[in-house]
Amino acid sequence: MIRYNISLSDLEQRIDVCKPDWRNRAANRTTSFKAAGKYDETGGIWSEIKKVYIDLQHNKCAYCERPLEGSMELDVEHFRPKSSVKKWPPSTWPPKSLGIPKVLTYGFSTGDAWSEGYYLLAYCLTNYAMACKNCNSVLKSNYFPIAGNRETQSDNPIDLKAEKPLLIYPIGEVDDDPEYLIKFDGIVPVPVKSAEDEEYGHQRAKITIDFFALTEREALRQQRAEGIFLLGEWLQKFENATTASDKTLAENIISAMTSERCSQANCLRSFKKLFYENRSKALLFLKEAQDYVISYGLV
Ligand SMILES: [Zn+2]
Repeated sequence: MIRYNISLSDLEQRIDVCKPDWRNRAANRTTSFKAAGKYDETGGIWSEIKKVYIDLQHNKCAYCERPLEGSMELDVEHFRPKSSVKKWPPSTWPPKSLGIPKVLTYGFSTGDAWSEGYYLLAYCLTNYAMACKNCNSVLKSNYFPIAGNRETQSDNPIDLKAEKPLLIYPIGEVDDDPEYLIKFDGIVPVPVKSAEDEEYGHQRAKITIDFFALTEREALRQQRAEGIFLLGEWLQKFENATTASDKTLAENIISAMTSERCSQANCLRSFKKLFYENRSKALLFLKEAQDYVISYGLV
């Protein structure tokens, strides 16, 4: 997971360019939900502006950084569920299709079910993200684990920070930068903060990793291994280049592979950082990635 930088005013501007009357219509709907005290409409209009989020996220899933594929994949995800919230985790997690279901227990609260839901955020621009089918429908559904208490209704997520959300929202600056909380050891996501250093930050990373099954999902592991395999080669080529043009070529490829456009950017940035900070550990991860890629016949 990485952050997609944009200010609220720039986001609003992009929405206005995409669909000039959308924000007015959305505001009217929010007003009617406020009056009704619940989410109440037969169909949403958020799909009309999904292109803004697809472009902002470079056609990647906000949570697992996998490229979005086909129209079925293109779901607008409500970060805080608009109508009701289910208790997470259920008896076992993740669902069978995405890993081996386990009983997850934590030494802290992950919040209760809530029938009301965040209905004032149904049309909040900083409550949207594009997510792949697995992250959106199979995993996220209408779960929203929190470490605090469900807050009084607000139409601004910044006012809801006291809830201590356990998932991380990656668009704009309403939440912590995901890379401040999650990094990768090779292809495996891990919390940046230890429980001793920053308990809540550690909890958020741990829950986000478990929730989106970021460790278990085979397709993600393969993408990361392929990325490290290639990035490792180019980092070494950059160091060993004997001509200015070879060095520039390697530099440009490394820059592209670690840009926010690239799938698994957090993983690849973590690997690049480690390559310069702890070479022997990085080379060990590179060897693991090479073995993985070869064993899966990916090259
Ligand atoms: Zn995803």
